[in-house]
Amino acid sequence: MTKRIVLIGHPVAHSLSGAMQQAAFDALKIDARYELWDRPPIQLAEAIAEVRGSEFLGANVTIPHKERTVPMMDRLTEEAQATGAVNTVTREGRRLVGHNTDVAGCGVALDQLVGRQKMPRHAVVLGAGGGARAVVYGLIREGFQRVVVFNRHLHRAEGLVRHFARSAAHMDLRAMPWHESIIESELAKTKILVNATSIGLDGDESPVPAEAIPGDLLVLDLIYNRTKLLRDAEAAGCIIQDGETMLLHQGAAAFTLWIGQSAPLEIMAEALARARAEGIRSAEGEPAGEATGDAAADETAAAPAG
Ligand code: NAP
Repeated sequence: MTKRIVLIGHPVAHSLSGAMQQAAFDALKIDARYELWDRPPIQLAEAIAEVRGSEFLGANVTIPHKERTVPMMDRLTEEAQATGAVNTVTREGRRLVGHNTDVAGCGVALDQLVGRQKMPRHAVVLGAGGGARAVVYGLIREGFQRVVVFNRHLHRAEGLVRHFARSAAHMDLRAMPWHESIIESELAKTKILVNATSIGLDGDESPVPAEAIPGDLLVLDLIYNRTKLLRDAEAAGCIIQDGETMLLHQGAAAFTLWIGQSAPLEIMAEALARARAEGIRSAEGEPAGEATGDAAADETAAAPAG
């Protein structure tokens, strides 16, 4: 029987994850199909319940459901518990386990960004959504001593800091208001800048003015394009990294959880590159908005995977 893995999000049509995971299943001759389920929040519980069926290996969960999925799980891994977000689901009989492989993906991206340098201890994180939670948790685990979180709506950054109060008790994790002058002054004191906002995803905008970027920063943008922020940072002399590594490695970690073997990274990377060249976008980057219909039944949505 063909096993099923589903991506539950809203919307999810044209997902890079679909292209990348199906290429991996096909290459390893695993009889499994990666389906795209566009489910608005009101249908999330029903979709999660369906995944308990024996034909499912599990699921990915994406915008806007990562946090809502948490209480629907029977068990959470440390990363899912700590971040308060689930992006991968596995099945143990009829019980469901919630994981967060964004943390692992972000860790690989951070390691690549830092390269052979000593891992810095100070970071500035822009954004306070699900992506930022994975980043901040990764930085805490990495032993960072000072992490400053800026967010347009300050209360959300404050909520993030409260959420990590226990795991960050030994360090200085703080929320600050989104003011250009404050961001600029913090950037002058830090070594790592992570953009975990969606600024730059749709338009050619940057969250920080080019003049505010010191030339010795390491800059990670979770968006998987060469954003204006990354272009400005590179022009200033910074080392930069986009979100593709994180996307690839969160997917590889999810593959291993479902299938129980190492993911074929090169094949997944090639599938990602092909899908990107075809203009397909990650479900992570789809603006939440209008429903796009049931992508599971949409052949075009799955086309790049096959
Ligand atoms: P989210 O929970 O919806 O959070 C969006 C964040 O962007 C919030 O902090 C929000 O601030 C901020 N934001 C949006 N528009 C803004 C604007 N015009 N000005 C200032 N701030 C703005 O989304 P998410 O899941 O954290 O994703 C955030 C980004 O990370 C997306 O671009 C996504 O593609 C990327 N991501 C990539 C990966 C990967 O594997 N590469 C994984 C996860 C996420 P407010 O709270 O003030 O609204």
